[in-house]
Amino acid sequence: MLQLTSNVFVETQIRGCNHGFVTTSEGVVMIDSPQKPSDALKLKAEIAKHGELRYIINTEPHGDHWTGNAFFDAPVIAHEGVRTRILNTDMDEHIARVSNMGPDEAALLKGYRPNVPIITFKNGMTMHVGEHTFQMIHMPGHTLYQAAIVIKEEGVVFTSDNIFHKVQTWLHEANPDLWLVALESLRHLDEDIFVPGHGPMCDKGYLDEQGSLIVEWKDYIKSGIDSGMTKDESVANLTKFTDRYPMDVGQDGMAPMVMRMNVANLYDYMTGAWAPPPPPSLRLRPRGQ
Ligand SMILES: [Zn+2]
Repeated sequence: MLQLTSNVFVETQIRGCNHGFVTTSEGVVMIDSPQKPSDALKLKAEIAKHGELRYIINTEPHGDHWTGNAFFDAPVIAHEGVRTRILNTDMDEHIARVSNMGPDEAALLKGYRPNVPIITFKNGMTMHVGEHTFQMIHMPGHTLYQAAIVIKEEGVVFTSDNIFHKVQTWLHEANPDLWLVALESLRHLDEDIFVPGHGPMCDKGYLDEQGSLIVEWKDYIKSGIDSGMTKDESVANLTKFTDRYPMDVGQDGMAPMVMRMNVANLYDYMTGAWAPPPPPSLRLRPRGQ
């Protein structure tokens, strides 16, 4: 793991989302969890060297952010929509998928029950642990339930998947317009050490590139719609982003599938099949991870 500041530790090199923990005078706060159970157990041993784990904060509803929660004994905090999505997950299907991610995973998943958020917020929440302040700010975009976590005293922001730094961007359930707003919200924060949801560490200097990519995606899908393509034709033919960036760690070979999901979602979004969204707390879009 990378020690980012005196109290913030981050993992960006293993399969799953970037995650980390913050050491405070009153214990440890973890932000997101490893996707693979074997990685979760390694992290648990690492955290134990730094103190008692007090809380877990999840930044979004996709399984690569919360699957590992279950291997820790601490209450989870997240947007209300994250809780609902976890509760609505087909756990048998989820366990089957994660079981294939490594030789030890299936055994570790025996009897798996998710560690579901029991403290939830809609717009945001501030938590004080020891001398540290954790600001959770709802920033819909990549999903409607996205949150950025600001650790004020460390100058660090866990941006979640509104930033994919130099790796392929998943837009499979994105609202691209809200995502662009979220990027502006990140730009206006005082803090500038960014832990992106995926990819290596970055800062505000990457916001323009991430934003341009989303605008380019929108324009590209619009050009397909304007030329009369159906959704199926768009999914089959709009492939120009497939080699734009490498996939994140452990996702080799998945680019064509991710691009198809991105196109399908943006096609729906831009043809009005799911826009404009009602307030996030009222809307559920059950999806896989
Ligand atoms: Zn995600």
